[in-house]
Amino acid sequence: MEIVIPNAGWIEVICGPMFSGKTEEMIRRLRRAMIARKRVQVFKPAIDTRYSDAEIVSHADIRMASQPVNDARAILSSIDWRTQVLGIDEANFFGPGLIEIVNQLADSGKQVIVAGLDTDYLGRPFPPIPDLLALAESITKTLAICMCCGSPAKHTQRLVESEDLILIGAGGAYEARCRRCFEPGMPRQERLDFATAAKQQSRT
Ligand code: ADP
Ligand code: MG
Ligand code: ZN
Repeated sequence: MEIVIPNAGWIEVICGPMFSGKTEEMIRRLRRAMIARKRVQVFKPAIDTRYSDAEIVSHADIRMASQPVNDARAILSSIDWRTQVLGIDEANFFGPGLIEIVNQLADSGKQVIVAGLDTDYLGRPFPPIPDLLALAESITKTLAICMCCGSPAKHTQRLVESEDLILIGAGGAYEARCRRCFEPGMPRQERLDFATAAKQQSRT
């Protein structure tokens, strides 16, 4: 879908599981805004230091400079009011506090692009994305590839034992799974062994 950029503010949401290309898609849109000589600011949660402290980084190592912030309110206090386009990656780390702030920014004329997980490790809708979907002008759902069967994948499978809603990690701690292969909570051990063996085989 080609997005028509309006003069008024609006909200674009990019959502899907881990590894589905949300960060890449956000970077692509932000680069285009920069080419159009728009003033752009990019925010990410300071808690997410997986690949870099001050950049948003995709799993394929595509990077863009960003400002780490501790919570949603810190986005408001870090904004240069001349900024026209705002990118906010990993929205799910900001919690429900992000909803009102994104809405305010769009009301004040900003183009706000938000990327985040739409479901958690148990497959439940993951705040604040569900509310942001309802408020957005544009919605993109990205799918990954299932690591068990190769189908389009909408789930983030947790591979390590933990009941924390937020557990930071990329390769090793999570993988993408389709609806059929997804196992809420921990996957069965034989499945894991199969996936590891398949990956090793494809490397040799
Ligand atoms: P997200 O922000 O949604 O976690 P990224 O934009 O960081 O995703 O990374 C997407 C990239 O990850 C893909 O272009 C691809 O190179 C790589 N990748 C690794 N594992 C997978 C997978 N299971 N499915 C799709 N892409 C994957
Ligand atoms: Mg990402
Ligand atoms: Zn599958």
